[in-house]
Amino acid sequence: MDWLSRQSFLGSNSSELLGSARVGVVGLGGGGSHVCQQLGHVGIGEVVIVDPDRISSTNLNRLIGGTRLDVLLRRKKTSIAKRQIRRVNATARVISFSGEWQACFDILKACDIIVGCLDQVRAKDELDAFCRRYLIPFIDIGMDVHEIPSGHLIAGQVALSFVGGPCLRCLGIVTETAVATEARNYGAAGGNPQVVWPNGVLASTAVGLIIQMLNPWQPTPVETALLQYDGNIGTVSESHRLANWSGRCQHYPADQRGDPGFRIRERHGVNR
Ligand SMILES: [Zn+2]
Repeated sequence: MDWLSRQSFLGSNSSELLGSARVGVVGLGGGGSHVCQQLGHVGIGEVVIVDPDRISSTNLNRLIGGTRLDVLLRRKKTSIAKRQIRRVNATARVISFSGEWQACFDILKACDIIVGCLDQVRAKDELDAFCRRYLIPFIDIGMDVHEIPSGHLIAGQVALSFVGGPCLRCLGIVTETAVATEARNYGAAGGNPQVVWPNGVLASTAVGLIIQMLNPWQPTPVETALLQYDGNIGTVSESHRLANWSGRCQHYPADQRGDPGFRIRERHGVNR
């Protein structure tokens, strides 16, 4: 029996559609490892996974698929994600790059969708710019734990950035203040608080968007999205920032699309 038969409601050719898709996942921590696991389960044919790091003991509270033995062996996060995908879908093609995503442009350029699971605002901004230039839908997920008078607030968001819709700057996820604050605090001791279940909600929400974009099984197309998660009460809802968007992104002009290194006239020996 077809191992994907229980999701055949997605459409008679959904296995082929999802099996022919290439999805990139940049950042394989708490969020990215969850996304990879689900991409394996839904039958995505090609997954490009990118992360420069190796697992450490403090990742075990949230890195899906990571084990104590992996920590002892200091396995690469790409190795763990690849193993997790292939355990479910043995025929999935997994292209892994254990380094900074800026060093594997050519692999990422061929993705149908890219999911960014990055902690740093500056990195989110750069990946958004890359995806905009190459007309690739970009889904950013992120979570934070904030101190509030009554304790802590777990918050997160899933945002879709694509040509014609708002970018991460339009949506207020990337701001100059946040970039400057991050730069000022660079190297500050300790990592941000992170737990497994909010990342699971955010990753699941992101994968839901991916499936609807690759294989539109509902009549309403996905063109924009900014879904915010309130981890203290357990809700995911559309952010008012999306409704308040002006309708025009001024951060990525139309003439800044395509490969900046490609000059058709130079290829033919024409100077102007
Ligand atoms: Zn914008």
